[in-house]
Amino acid sequence: MIIISLTALEEPVHVTRPLLPDIEKVSNRMKEIWESRWITNNGDQHKQLEKELTKHLRAKNISIFSNGTLALILGLKALEVKGEVITTPFTFPATLQAVDWNGLTPVFCDIEKETLNIDANQIESLITNKTSAILAVHVFGNPCDVKKIQTIADKYNLRVIYDGAHAFGTQIKWRSVSSFGDMTMFSFHATKLFNTVEGGALVYNNENLKEKLESLKNFGLRGSEEVILSGMNAKLNEIQAAIGLEVLKLVENERKRREEIKKVYEENLKSIDGIRIITTLEGENNSFQYFVIEIDEEKYGMSRDYLHEELKKYNIFTRRYFNPLCSEFSWYRDLESAKYQNLKQAHKSVKNVLSMPFYGDLQLETVKKICRIIREIPVRLSRIK
Ligand SMILES: *Cc1c(COP(=O)(O)O)cnc(C)c1O
Repeated sequence: MIIISLTALEEPVHVTRPLLPDIEKVSNRMKEIWESRWITNNGDQHKQLEKELTKHLRAKNISIFSNGTLALILGLKALEVKGEVITTPFTFPATLQAVDWNGLTPVFCDIEKETLNIDANQIESLITNKTSAILAVHVFGNPCDVKKIQTIADKYNLRVIYDGAHAFGTQIKWRSVSSFGDMTMFSFHATKLFNTVEGGALVYNNENLKEKLESLKNFGLRGSEEVILSGMNAKLNEIQAAIGLEVLKLVENERKRREEIKKVYEENLKSIDGIRIITTLEGENNSFQYFVIEIDEEKYGMSRDYLHEELKKYNIFTRRYFNPLCSEFSWYRDLESAKYQNLKQAHKSVKNVLSMPFYGDLQLETVKKICRIIREIPVRLSRIK
C-alpha cells in the first residue's frame, strides 16, 4: 500500500467565500448615488436591480427586501396564510422563524432520503381542517417535487410557498424554479451564490400581490400618509442594490467555475466507499450553491462528526447543515409532528450530511487534496488501531 503524505492546507478553507465585485466598479456606482442623494426607498439602483433580476430569474413579478427572512415573513402575510403550515424540519432556522412571526403552527413532514427535501408523499396525511399552506425548501438547490406538491395544494386549496434561498438559478427541465407555487423566496446574503451583502426577494406569478408586498415592506404605507396594512421596514437600500448589480454580472462565471469544481469533487470522491454526493439530480440544473456529501458510517469507517473534526486538523472547515433539526427547537419539540418517530429520515440525514468547501476561487488542486484527505483519514485511523 502506498502511503501518501498528507499535510494540512496552507490556508484555512471554509465552505464558502462571498462573491465580491471589483471595488472600482462599486465606487463608480457609489458616485452616482452620492450625486443623486437618493440612498434608499426604491431609487435608481433598486429599480435597475429589479429589472436585471427579473431577467436573470425569468420572473413574472419580483419584490426585493432587506433580507430573505423578512421577505418570507411578509410573503406569508401577503398570502394571508392562517392556522397550520406543513413544512420541513431540515432547513435553516429562518424558515421556521418566518412561520412563527406570522403566528402560524408548523406541522413537520419527514424528508426524502435522496434529495433531503420535504417528502411530498407524506404531505397529504398531515392535512387537517386548519392547514392553509405548504412551505417547502429547495434544500441545497435541488428542487422539491413541485408537481406533486401542486397537485395536493390544488386538491385541498392550499397556498404553496418555496424557500428558494439555495436555489438561485435552479431550473427544472429548463423552467425557472420560481415559476412554481404561489411564491418563492430568494436570499441574497453574503454566503449565498448571489449577494447584495444582505438582501432577499420574492418571485410570484400573481401580479396583484405587487402593491401589497411593496406596501408591507414600507410600513404598510400607500402614498405618503395613508397606512393600509400592518407592515414593517424591510427595504433594500441603494448602496446594497448597487453592489448587487455588480455581483450579478459575476454570477454566470462563478457558476461555471463551481461546475468544474463539482466535477473534480465527483471524480475524486466517487470511488470512496460510504460517501454519497447529494447535489446531483438528473434532468435538473442545480444552482451550485452547495456541495454536500453524505457519510455512511459503517461503509466509510467513521462517523460524519468524526470526519468533520478530523478535517479541521487539515485546515478544512466543513459545515453540518442543518443541525439541529428545526423540530428540535425547545418551542416546537412537544408538537406531535416533531416527535422522533414521525421524522426518522430527517433525524438520520441530519447526522450524516456534510457541506464541503465550494466557491469559484477554490483551486482544483485544493479540491483534489481535500478528496485525498477524505480518502486517507479512515485508512490511517484503522492503521493506528
Ligand atoms: C440563508 C437562508 C435563509 C435566510 O436568508 P437571509 O437572507 O439570511 O435572511 C432562509 N432559508 C434558508 C434555507 C437559508 O439558507
